Amino acid sequence: AKGGGRNRFSYFTPTLQVAALNRMRLTNDLRGALKGGQLALYFQPIVHLRTGRIHKAEALIRWNHPQRGMVSPLEFIPLAEASGLIIEIGSWVLRESVQWVRRWRSEHHPEFQVSVNQSPLEFQREDGSYQAWLGELQALDLPGQSVVVEITEGLLLDANSAVSNKLLQLRDAGIQVALDDFGTGYSSLSYLKKFDIDYLKIDRSFTRNLAPESSDMALSDAIIVMAHKLGLRVIAEGVETAEQRELLLAAGCDYGQGYLFARPMPADQFDALLKAQAHE
Ligand code: C2E
Ligand code: CA
Ligand code: CA
Ligand code: CA
Repeated sequence: AKGGGRNRFSYFTPTLQVAALNRMRLTNDLRGALKGGQLALYFQPIVHLRTGRIHKAEALIRWNHPQRGMVSPLEFIPLAEASGLIIEIGSWVLRESVQWVRRWRSEHHPEFQVSVNQSPLEFQREDGSYQAWLGELQALDLPGQSVVVEITEGLLLDANSAVSNKLLQLRDAGIQVALDDFGTGYSSLSYLKKFDIDYLKIDRSFTRNLAPESSDMALSDAIIVMAHKLGLRVIAEGVETAEQRELLLAAGCDYGQGYLFARPMPADQFDALLKAQAHE
Protein backbone atom coordinates (compact mmCIF):
# COMPACT_ATOMS: atom_id res chain seq x y z
CA ALA A 1 0.00 0.00 0.00
CA LYS A 2 2.91 2.28 0.74
CA GLY A 3 4.36 2.06 -2.75
CA GLY A 4 0.93 2.59 -4.32
CA GLY A 5 0.43 5.65 -2.18
CA ARG A 6 3.63 7.10 -3.41
CA ASN A 7 2.71 6.53 -7.01
CA ARG A 8 -0.68 8.08 -6.53
CA PHE A 9 0.96 11.27 -5.33
CA SER A 10 2.33 12.02 -8.76
CA TYR A 11 -1.12 11.53 -10.24
CA PHE A 12 -2.67 14.45 -8.45
CA THR A 13 -1.44 18.04 -8.42
CA PRO A 14 2.06 17.29 -7.20
CA THR A 15 2.95 20.84 -6.19
CA LEU A 16 -0.01 21.00 -3.81
CA GLN A 17 0.96 17.67 -2.27
CA VAL A 18 4.50 18.82 -1.81
CA ALA A 19 3.33 22.08 -0.24
CA ALA A 20 1.07 20.24 2.21
CA LEU A 21 3.82 17.83 3.15
CA ASN A 22 6.21 20.69 3.56
CA ARG A 23 3.81 22.44 5.94
CA MET A 24 3.42 19.26 8.01
CA ARG A 25 7.16 18.80 8.30
CA LEU A 26 7.73 22.42 9.17
CA THR A 27 5.01 22.34 11.83
CA ASN A 28 6.65 19.29 13.35
CA ASP A 29 10.03 20.99 13.33
CA LEU A 30 8.49 24.08 14.93
CA ARG A 31 7.40 21.98 17.89
CA GLY A 32 11.03 21.22 18.56
CA ALA A 33 12.30 24.69 17.73
CA LEU A 34 11.11 26.27 20.98
CA LYS A 35 12.78 23.67 23.15
CA GLY A 36 15.81 23.45 20.88
CA GLY A 37 16.57 27.14 21.22
CA GLN A 38 16.16 27.76 17.48
CA LEU A 39 13.90 30.77 17.97
CA ALA A 40 15.39 34.20 18.42
CA LEU A 41 13.87 37.59 19.00
CA TYR A 42 15.17 40.38 16.79
CA PHE A 43 14.55 44.07 17.41
CA GLN A 44 14.01 46.92 14.97
CA PRO A 45 14.31 50.54 16.08
CA ILE A 46 11.29 52.83 16.08
CA VAL A 47 12.66 56.32 15.64
CA HIS A 48 11.21 59.60 16.82
CA LEU A 49 11.24 61.45 13.50
CA ARG A 50 11.82 64.99 14.76
CA THR A 51 14.84 64.15 16.92
CA GLY A 52 16.06 61.02 15.14
CA ARG A 53 16.31 59.18 18.43
CA ILE A 54 15.30 55.58 19.09
CA HIS A 55 12.37 55.55 21.52
CA LYS A 56 11.06 52.04 20.98
CA ALA A 57 11.74 48.74 19.29
CA GLU A 58 9.49 46.22 17.62
CA ALA A 59 10.20 42.63 18.63
CA LEU A 60 10.23 40.35 15.55
CA ILE A 61 10.61 36.61 15.84
CA ARG A 62 13.18 34.63 13.84
CA TRP A 63 13.54 30.91 13.35
CA ASN A 64 16.93 29.52 12.56
CA HIS A 65 16.06 26.10 11.17
CA PRO A 66 18.94 23.62 11.42
CA GLN A 67 18.59 22.52 7.76
CA ARG A 68 16.76 25.36 6.04
CA GLY A 69 18.41 28.34 7.68
CA MET A 70 16.29 31.36 8.46
CA VAL A 71 12.57 30.72 7.97
CA SER A 72 10.43 33.84 7.61
CA PRO A 73 7.71 34.48 10.22
CA LEU A 74 5.41 35.06 7.25
CA GLU A 75 5.84 31.34 6.62
CA PHE A 76 5.83 29.86 10.12
CA ILE A 77 3.47 32.14 12.11
CA PRO A 78 0.47 30.85 10.10
CA LEU A 79 1.62 27.28 10.88
CA ALA A 80 1.96 28.19 14.54
CA GLU A 81 -1.57 29.59 14.48
CA ALA A 82 -3.05 26.56 12.75
CA SER A 83 -1.37 24.13 15.16
CA GLY A 84 -1.97 26.10 18.35
CA LEU A 85 1.79 26.43 18.90
CA ILE A 86 1.31 30.19 18.68
CA ILE A 87 0.26 30.24 22.34
CA GLU A 88 3.55 28.82 23.54
CA ILE A 89 5.54 30.92 21.08
CA GLY A 90 3.64 34.05 22.09
CA SER A 91 4.40 33.49 25.77
CA TRP A 92 8.05 33.06 24.94
CA VAL A 93 8.05 36.33 22.96
CA LEU A 94 6.43 38.22 25.85
CA ARG A 95 8.81 36.86 28.47
CA GLU A 96 11.86 37.50 26.32
CA SER A 97 10.71 41.05 25.45
CA VAL A 98 10.21 41.89 29.10
CA GLN A 99 13.75 40.83 29.99
CA TRP A 100 15.21 43.08 27.32
CA VAL A 101 13.02 46.10 27.94
CA ARG A 102 13.86 45.89 31.60
CA ARG A 103 17.55 46.11 30.78
CA TRP A 104 17.17 48.89 28.23
CA ARG A 105 15.04 50.97 30.58
CA SER A 106 17.52 50.70 33.40
CA GLU A 107 20.66 51.12 31.30
CA HIS A 108 19.82 53.42 28.41
CA HIS A 109 16.43 55.04 28.33
CA PRO A 110 13.97 55.14 31.27
CA GLU A 111 10.94 55.41 29.00
CA PHE A 112 11.94 52.81 26.43
CA GLN A 113 9.16 50.60 25.05
CA VAL A 114 9.18 47.24 23.32
CA SER A 115 6.34 46.59 20.91
CA VAL A 116 5.19 42.98 20.55
CA ASN A 117 2.99 41.42 17.88
CA GLN A 118 -0.08 39.44 18.87
CA SER A 119 -1.86 37.05 16.57
CA PRO A 120 -5.66 37.37 16.70
CA LEU A 121 -5.83 33.84 18.03
CA GLU A 122 -3.47 34.66 20.83
CA PHE A 123 -5.18 37.90 21.67
CA GLN A 124 -8.66 36.40 21.79
CA ARG A 125 -7.72 33.63 24.17
CA GLU A 126 -9.00 33.99 27.69
CA ASP A 127 -6.72 32.10 29.97
CA GLY A 128 -4.38 32.62 32.86
CA SER A 129 -1.22 33.07 30.81
CA TYR A 130 -1.79 36.77 30.19
CA GLN A 131 -2.49 37.38 33.86
CA ALA A 132 0.66 35.47 34.72
CA TRP A 133 2.60 37.64 32.34
CA LEU A 134 1.17 40.85 33.83
CA GLY A 135 2.22 39.46 37.19
CA GLU A 136 5.76 38.99 35.88
CA LEU A 137 5.87 42.63 34.80
CA GLN A 138 4.84 43.69 38.28
CA ALA A 139 7.28 41.34 39.95
CA LEU A 140 10.08 42.96 37.96
CA ASP A 141 8.79 46.38 38.97
CA LEU A 142 8.20 47.25 35.33
CA PRO A 143 5.39 49.67 34.56
CA GLY A 144 2.85 48.59 31.95
CA GLN A 145 4.09 51.40 29.70
CA SER A 146 7.21 49.33 29.05
CA VAL A 147 5.23 47.32 26.54
CA VAL A 148 3.12 48.09 23.48
CA VAL A 149 0.92 45.33 22.09
CA GLU A 150 0.43 45.34 18.30
CA ILE A 151 -2.89 44.04 17.03
CA THR A 152 -4.52 44.17 13.61
CA GLU A 153 -7.69 45.87 12.40
CA GLY A 154 -9.62 42.66 11.77
CA LEU A 155 -9.60 41.90 15.47
CA LEU A 156 -11.46 45.11 16.30
CA LEU A 157 -13.87 44.84 13.41
CA ASP A 158 -15.57 41.75 14.79
CA ALA A 159 -14.59 42.37 18.37
CA ASN A 160 -16.22 39.89 20.71
CA SER A 161 -16.28 40.23 24.47
CA ALA A 162 -12.95 38.40 24.78
CA VAL A 163 -11.29 41.12 22.70
CA SER A 164 -12.94 43.97 24.61
CA ASN A 165 -12.01 42.37 27.91
CA LYS A 166 -8.42 41.92 26.87
CA LEU A 167 -8.19 45.55 25.79
CA LEU A 168 -9.57 46.65 29.16
CA GLN A 169 -7.12 44.40 31.01
CA LEU A 170 -4.25 45.93 29.07
CA ARG A 171 -5.40 49.45 29.78
CA ASP A 172 -5.78 48.70 33.48
CA ALA A 173 -2.19 47.45 33.49
CA GLY A 174 -1.02 50.62 31.69
CA ILE A 175 0.03 48.69 28.58
CA GLN A 176 -0.40 50.56 25.32
CA VAL A 177 -1.95 49.26 22.13
CA ALA A 178 -0.91 49.82 18.51
CA LEU A 179 -3.02 49.12 15.47
CA ASP A 180 -0.70 47.35 13.01
CA ASP A 181 -0.80 47.49 9.19
CA PHE A 182 -3.29 50.34 9.30
CA GLY A 183 -5.06 51.00 6.03
CA THR A 184 -4.66 47.56 4.51
CA GLY A 185 -7.72 45.87 5.93
CA TYR A 186 -11.29 46.88 6.37
CA SER A 187 -10.51 50.41 7.45
CA SER A 188 -13.67 51.09 9.29
CA LEU A 189 -12.75 54.04 11.44
CA SER A 190 -15.52 53.79 14.01
CA TYR A 191 -13.51 51.41 16.15
CA LEU A 192 -10.86 54.04 16.74
CA LYS A 193 -13.47 55.91 18.75
CA LYS A 194 -14.81 52.79 20.41
CA PHE A 195 -11.55 51.30 21.64
CA ASP A 196 -8.67 52.78 23.51
CA ILE A 197 -5.83 52.65 20.99
CA ASP A 198 -2.56 54.53 21.44
CA TYR A 199 -0.71 54.16 18.13
CA LEU A 200 -1.55 53.73 14.48
CA LYS A 201 1.06 52.02 12.36
CA ILE A 202 0.71 53.17 8.77
CA ASP A 203 1.30 50.15 6.57
CA ARG A 204 4.38 50.12 4.41
CA SER A 205 2.30 49.86 1.23
CA PHE A 206 1.49 53.56 1.82
CA THR A 207 5.01 54.55 2.78
CA ARG A 208 6.41 52.88 -0.31
CA ASN A 209 4.48 55.14 -2.70
CA LEU A 210 4.91 58.41 -0.86
CA ALA A 211 5.67 61.29 -3.22
CA PRO A 212 4.59 64.92 -3.12
CA GLU A 213 1.04 65.27 -4.51
CA SER A 214 0.54 61.49 -4.72
CA SER A 215 -2.70 59.88 -3.57
CA ASP A 216 -0.83 57.87 -0.93
CA MET A 217 0.58 61.14 0.38
CA ALA A 218 -2.94 62.57 0.61
CA LEU A 219 -4.11 59.45 2.43
CA SER A 220 -1.18 59.47 4.85
CA ASP A 221 -1.73 63.18 5.54
CA ALA A 222 -5.37 62.53 6.31
CA ILE A 223 -4.62 59.51 8.52
CA ILE A 224 -2.09 61.50 10.53
CA VAL A 225 -4.42 64.48 11.04
CA MET A 226 -7.28 62.22 12.05
CA ALA A 227 -5.15 60.13 14.39
CA HIS A 228 -3.83 63.23 16.15
CA LYS A 229 -7.35 64.62 16.58
CA LEU A 230 -8.29 61.35 18.25
CA GLY A 231 -5.23 61.53 20.50
CA LEU A 232 -3.24 58.77 18.81
CA ARG A 233 0.42 58.81 17.81
CA VAL A 234 1.43 57.62 14.36
CA ILE A 235 4.25 55.24 13.39
CA ALA A 236 5.08 54.87 9.69
CA GLU A 237 6.30 51.40 8.71
CA GLY A 238 8.73 50.58 5.93
CA VAL A 239 10.60 53.90 5.77
CA GLU A 240 13.39 53.16 3.31
CA THR A 241 14.44 56.53 1.89
CA ALA A 242 15.35 59.95 3.24
CA GLU A 243 12.66 61.45 1.02
CA GLN A 244 10.00 59.30 2.66
CA ARG A 245 11.24 60.39 6.07
CA GLU A 246 11.08 64.08 5.08
CA LEU A 247 7.57 63.76 3.64
CA LEU A 248 6.36 61.96 6.78
CA LEU A 249 7.98 64.51 9.04
CA ALA A 250 6.35 67.35 7.08
CA ALA A 251 3.01 65.58 7.40
CA GLY A 252 3.46 65.52 11.18
CA CYS A 253 4.08 61.79 11.55
CA ASP A 254 5.51 61.02 14.99
CA TYR A 255 7.65 57.90 14.47
CA GLY A 256 9.27 55.96 11.67
CA GLN A 257 10.47 52.39 11.34
CA GLY A 258 12.28 50.90 8.39
CA TYR A 259 15.49 49.96 6.64
CA LEU A 260 16.51 53.64 6.39
CA PHE A 261 17.14 53.55 10.13
CA ALA A 262 18.00 49.88 10.61
CA ARG A 263 16.91 46.35 9.80
CA PRO A 264 15.70 44.07 12.58
CA MET A 265 18.77 42.82 14.49
CA PRO A 266 19.69 40.41 17.30
CA ALA A 267 19.10 41.75 20.80
CA ASP A 268 22.79 42.13 21.67
CA GLN A 269 23.35 44.25 18.55
CA PHE A 270 20.35 46.37 19.42
CA ASP A 271 21.76 46.75 22.89
CA ALA A 272 25.02 48.09 21.41
CA LEU A 273 23.07 50.50 19.22
CA LEU A 274 21.26 51.94 22.24
CA LYS A 275 24.53 52.20 24.10
CA ALA A 276 26.04 54.19 21.21
CA GLN A 277 23.03 56.48 21.13
CA ALA A 278 23.32 57.16 24.84
CA HIS A 279 26.89 58.44 24.30
CA GLU A 280 26.01 60.73 21.39
P1 C2E B 1 4.73 43.23 10.81
O1 C2E B 1 4.24 43.19 12.21
O2 C2E B 1 4.04 44.15 9.87
O3 C2E B 1 6.29 43.57 10.93
C1 C2E B 1 6.97 44.43 10.05
C2 C2E B 1 7.70 43.65 8.98
O4 C2E B 1 8.27 44.58 8.05
C3 C2E B 1 8.86 42.85 9.52
O5 C2E B 1 8.94 41.66 8.73
C4 C2E B 1 10.07 43.74 9.22
O6 C2E B 1 11.28 43.05 9.13
C5 C2E B 1 9.66 44.34 7.90
N1 C2E B 1 10.29 45.63 7.64
C6 C2E B 1 10.71 46.56 8.51
N2 C2E B 1 11.19 47.65 7.89
C7 C2E B 1 11.09 47.42 6.57
C8 C2E B 1 11.45 48.17 5.39
O7 C2E B 1 11.92 49.30 5.45
N3 C2E B 1 11.17 47.61 4.19
C9 C2E B 1 10.62 46.36 4.08
N4 C2E B 1 10.41 45.88 2.86
N5 C2E B 1 10.27 45.62 5.17
C10 C2E B 1 10.50 46.14 6.39
P2 C2E B 1 9.22 40.25 9.42
O8 C2E B 1 10.17 40.42 10.57
O9 C2E B 1 9.56 39.29 8.34
O10 C2E B 1 7.82 39.85 10.05
C11 C2E B 1 6.73 39.57 9.22
C12 C2E B 1 5.45 39.47 10.02
O11 C2E B 1 5.48 38.33 10.88
C13 C2E B 1 5.21 40.65 10.93
O12 C2E B 1 4.70 41.73 10.17
C14 C2E B 1 4.21 40.05 11.91
O13 C2E B 1 2.92 40.06 11.37
C15 C2E B 1 4.69 38.60 12.02
N6 C2E B 1 5.50 38.45 13.25
C16 C2E B 1 6.81 38.71 13.45
N7 C2E B 1 7.17 38.45 14.73
C17 C2E B 1 6.05 38.02 15.37
C18 C2E B 1 5.75 37.61 16.72
O14 C2E B 1 6.60 37.60 17.64
N8 C2E B 1 4.45 37.23 16.97
C19 C2E B 1 3.48 37.25 16.01
N9 C2E B 1 2.23 36.87 16.36
N10 C2E B 1 3.73 37.66 14.76
C20 C2E B 1 5.00 38.04 14.42
CA1 CA C 1 3.92 44.61 13.78
CA1 CA D 1 3.04 46.03 10.28
CA1 CA E 1 -4.62 54.59 25.65
